[in-house]
Amino acid sequence: MIRRIGTILAALALTAVSTVLGVTVTAGAAHADGCYTWGRTLSEGMSGEDVRQLQIRVAGYPGYGAVLTIDGAYGPATRAAVARFQQAYGLAADGIAGPQTFNRIYALQDDDCTPVNFSYAELNDCNSDWSGGAVSASTARYNARVAMWKLQAMRHALGDQQIVVTSAFRSYACNSAVGGSSTSRHLYGDAVDLGAGPHSLCRLAQQARYHGFNEILGPGYPDHNDHTHVAHKSTRTWSAPNCGI
Ligand SMILES: [Zn+2]
Repeated sequence: MIRRIGTILAALALTAVSTVLGVTVTAGAAHADGCYTWGRTLSEGMSGEDVRQLQIRVAGYPGYGAVLTIDGAYGPATRAAVARFQQAYGLAADGIAGPQTFNRIYALQDDDCTPVNFSYAELNDCNSDWSGGAVSASTARYNARVAMWKLQAMRHALGDQQIVVTSAFRSYACNSAVGGSSTSRHLYGDAVDLGAGPHSLCRLAQQARYHGFNEILGPGYPDHNDHTHVAHKSTRTWSAPNCGI
């Protein structure tokens, strides 16, 4: 009897949570996530903040040489990115983001909206408040978050083995201290230097071409024989001559 009352109470609690969130949450689909919860299925032609949040999570699935625009408008490129994400995780690849897709994302993200295998601290060993770069602290932090989602996609494509981050966001002071270029993308928060680990530097540079990085500099490019640099920027610069890039 006590056990049965417990079951009823649990059911009531689930109902209460559903009501508070204002979304349809069926038993088993609930999640303990402090970041973001989607409240509707999203498909091509829709727009809004929920689409923008989705685009950040699938930014690592734009296809070879492409960069997904994060603008809150669910166009063909977003549909294709969602389909690639779904395919990567064994879901029906219809390019429509519904409960299965969102549950997969919930399982991949931490409460601070970073993907589970990367963290803000890992992307910033320069300071703790993301200040002093070429953009505002909030923009630098946002850029780093998008870069982490791209890296999460790349990590999964490489068999879910560790990707070693050796340097990312830098203030002007930190950038000068390491002799970085005065126009370095590290000042914007969207550049990440990767070290050799389970994957060689060339393997990382080659794979990065599929995950939304417009800037890839690696072995054979001056000063890049000991790391592979990946970043976002408006035009493409790929150079890693020793890797065939
Ligand atoms: Zn770099």
